[in-house]
Amino acid sequence: MLNREKEELILESEETSVEEKKSFLDKFINDEYKRQAGRLWKEFSYRIIVWSVTLIVSFLVCLAVNLLGYKMGFEVLIDGEVIGNVIEQKPVYQALTSAKENIENFSYQTFNKEATFVRRIVKASETLSARDIENILYENIDLMVEGYGIYVNDELICGVTSKDVADWVLSEYKERYRGKTVTDSARIEFVERVEVEKGYINIGHFELPEDAIKLFTGSGRQVKQYKIKRNDTLWDIANAYGMSVEKLMAANPGLTENIREGQSINVEEITPVLNVRSIADERYYEEIPFPVERQEDDTIYKGTTKVVSRGVKGKDRVVAKVVRINGVEQSREVFERETISEPVVQVEKVGTKKRPPTTGSGTFQRPASGVLTSRYGRRWGRNHNGIDIGGSYGSAILAADGGVVTYAGWMSGYGNYVIINHENGYQTCYGHNASLLVKVGSRVRKGQQIARMGSTGRSTGVHLHFEIKKNGVYQNPLNYVSY
Ligand SMILES: [Zn+2]
Repeated sequence: MLNREKEELILESEETSVEEKKSFLDKFINDEYKRQAGRLWKEFSYRIIVWSVTLIVSFLVCLAVNLLGYKMGFEVLIDGEVIGNVIEQKPVYQALTSAKENIENFSYQTFNKEATFVRRIVKASETLSARDIENILYENIDLMVEGYGIYVNDELICGVTSKDVADWVLSEYKERYRGKTVTDSARIEFVERVEVEKGYINIGHFELPEDAIKLFTGSGRQVKQYKIKRNDTLWDIANAYGMSVEKLMAANPGLTENIREGQSINVEEITPVLNVRSIADERYYEEIPFPVERQEDDTIYKGTTKVVSRGVKGKDRVVAKVVRINGVEQSREVFERETISEPVVQVEKVGTKKRPPTTGSGTFQRPASGVLTSRYGRRWGRNHNGIDIGGSYGSAILAADGGVVTYAGWMSGYGNYVIINHENGYQTCYGHNASLLVKVGSRVRKGQQIARMGSTGRSTGVHLHFEIKKNGVYQNPLNYVSY
C-alpha cells in the first residue's frame, strides 16, 4: 500500500518529466503483468498437483478393487426392488425375456417386469447369473404350473412336464448304477420312497430331464476318511471322489505328492438325494484252501520244514445274494454252496533236530555296528545291491547268520570280500574289509567275527558293504536287519 502511494505521488508530481512518467508507467505495467502471471501460474500448478494426486489415488483404488475380486458392475432392481448384483446388464435382459416366454406359454398370464440398474462396485464372486435371476423372477411371482412332481420321502425334488418324462428320469437314474457293477438279473430299487404326483408346482422347480438327474445325484458333500492303497496317486484319489487335486490338497493341510500306503486323508464324498439299491444273485467259484498235516522229524534241523506231498486247493460253486448301494457292495450272503472238488491235504515234515550254531537259522543279525550311509536300490543311475554301514576302522564285521564261508579274498571293486552260504537259500556278502579272519570252507556261528572294517576296493570311506541274496536274487537287507 505504501508502494502504491509512492507510485501515485510520482505520477501526479509536477516535477517529473513526461519521459520519466512514461518509463515509470511502462515499468508499472510490466510489474503488474508479472504479478498477474505469477498468480496464474501458482493457481495452475496447484491444479496440476490436485489432478495428479486424484489420478494416482483412483489408479490405486482400481488396482486394490481388482485384486480383491471387486469389479465395476450394477445393482439390479426389478420393478424397483433390489434383487442382487451383476457385472453386465445383458444376462438380466436374457432372464426377463426367458421368464416372460415361459410364464406366458405355460400360464396365459402376462408378465411385464422392468429392470433398472445402479452403477456400483460389486464382488465378482457374488454376482447373479441369468439362471439365478430367472429363478428369482419365478419365486417372486409365485407362479404355479400344472405338471408332475417327483418326491423323495415326501420332499419335492423337481417338477417335469409329463408322467413319461418323470418315468424316464427315474429309470435312467437307476440304469446308471446298473451299468457299473450290477448284472442284468439284478433287482434294482430306490432306497428312499419315491413318488410321482400330478399337481401345481412352482415354475422355479421345473427342470429339464438331464438337469433333474443331476439333482438326484446331489450336491451335498460329506467329509470322509480314505486310507491310501498301494500305487495310489493323489490324482487317482481326487478323480475317484470327483474332486480336483488342488481341492484334495486344501482338504489336507501339509499333504504332498509323496503319499504312503495306509496313510489316512480327508476326501469329500457326494451324498446323493436318491440312492439306488441293487440286489443280485451272483454265481461264482470260490477256492478252498488245503489243510496242512505236520509230522515231526528228528533227522531234520529245527526251523526247517520239508514238503512230503503237495496240497491241492479245492473248489466250491457258490450262489450269494449281494446287496449294493450306488454300486458299492454292502453285504454278501451265501445261500448255496456246492463243492466241485475237495482240497487235498499237504503233508510236511517239521525238523526237531537241534541245529548246530554254524548253520543258518533263517534270521539275521546286524553284521556291524555303525550308521547306515547308503540304502539298497537305485543310486546315481546304478543299482546298489546292498546297504553301506559306516563305522570305525578295524571294528568287527560279524556273520549275520551261521553258515559256511564260500569266498574269502580279493574281489574287484569289493576289496577284501567274504561270502557266507547259509544253506537255506540265503547267502550274505561282506565287502571293503581291512582284513579277513576266515578262509573258504570255515564254518561260522551267527555273530562270529569274520573280518575287520576297512576301505579296500572301490570305496570312498571306511564302511561295510553288505548284501543278502535269496536263491541268487538280491534282497533289500533292511527287510532283514534294521539300522
Ligand atoms: Zn555299497
